[in-house]
Amino acid sequence: MPEPTQITVPPNLLPSDGRFGCGPSKVREAQVRALTEAGTSLLGTSHRQAPVKSLVGRIRSGLAELFDAPEGYEVVLGNGGSSAFWDVATLCLVRERAQHAAFGEFGAKFATATTRAPFLAPSQVITAPPGSVAVPEAADGIDVYAWPHNETSTGAMAPVRRVPGSREQGALTLVDATSGAGALPVDLAETDVYYFAPQKVFGSDGGLWVAIMSPDAVARAQEIESGDRWVPEFLSLGAAITNSRQDQTLNTPAVATLVTFAEQVDWLNEQGGLAWASERSATSARTLYSWAESRDWATPFVARPEDRSTVVGTIDLDESIDATQVITALRANGILDVFPYRKLGRNQLRIGMFPAIEPTDVELLTRSIDFVVDALV
Ligand SMILES: *Cc1c(COP(=O)(O)O)cnc(C)c1O
Repeated sequence: MPEPTQITVPPNLLPSDGRFGCGPSKVREAQVRALTEAGTSLLGTSHRQAPVKSLVGRIRSGLAELFDAPEGYEVVLGNGGSSAFWDVATLCLVRERAQHAAFGEFGAKFATATTRAPFLAPSQVITAPPGSVAVPEAADGIDVYAWPHNETSTGAMAPVRRVPGSREQGALTLVDATSGAGALPVDLAETDVYYFAPQKVFGSDGGLWVAIMSPDAVARAQEIESGDRWVPEFLSLGAAITNSRQDQTLNTPAVATLVTFAEQVDWLNEQGGLAWASERSATSARTLYSWAESRDWATPFVARPEDRSTVVGTIDLDESIDATQVITALRANGILDVFPYRKLGRNQLRIGMFPAIEPTDVELLTRSIDFVVDALV
């Protein structure tokens, strides 16, 4: 058996771009060019002055357009990424008790954050094994229902629909859309907070969170922050809302991240918006899953076809093939970051299928994998 690093995939089987990671993910050349062009006008200039503020404004209005935000919904942003937003939401959006549907690492992390908060009742957590989907259920005493749109650690995607009766109960619906936002269809009216970070679908860098918030969610933050709960300013949603309304962030943002983010939002809108982006990822997903189903040594990890993510594909390999060797051989050929989520611990490949990734490259990736597997066994 050859050393994985000695395997050479023929150039005609190689994707035009080898980046298939699930975050950070492929940055398009046009985004990098935008960064170069911003080199002397935006980079290295104050985020409190008109040029950077208008960049933030472009992102906010571009996202409202991309998601067809209902009347009154606001695009709010702050520093710290989606993980920081879990703490922001724990402090500023959960009144007494949250319910989480958790079916992977990311959903579970937010559940842990609210459960550990000493000022909240222990959260109700509805779980499902990795590779399947758990959905929230109406329950008394719940004021926040939360779940991920796309569970990046397992490649399962969930419906975004309010729990029946949740609005009458006065509960908010919070959806972690970090890896799905911008490439999965969504009706924001089914959510109060649809939040994400720009290093996945938007092909930018990490470190920023964005939350598209309903008037009910804004009111909840105001209610909680005017009460006696201590909220550190950095985690204050009220402060983020105030700053966002002025196209600013509480503290200094990474201007380069804003530039590549804005470029991608404009690109998605110009290409045909969310419908176009969703279809492009779905095309890649059809290629990937049908390929896996046609190989006797590969199986889509997510059992139910309707739960299979169209942005993050997870493919289990037969135990006779060591996924680590496949991943090593692919990396030696410039195909990067197709490893599974580390804590999942499966003999698996995980493949980003974000809109920036050419569907034809996903097809070529499958041919490269075929070649590597043939060479290894
Ligand atoms: C990547 C990811 C996160 C974490 O995002 P950070 O910006 O790194 O904190 C949270 N939730 C989901 C679903 C993710 O895919």
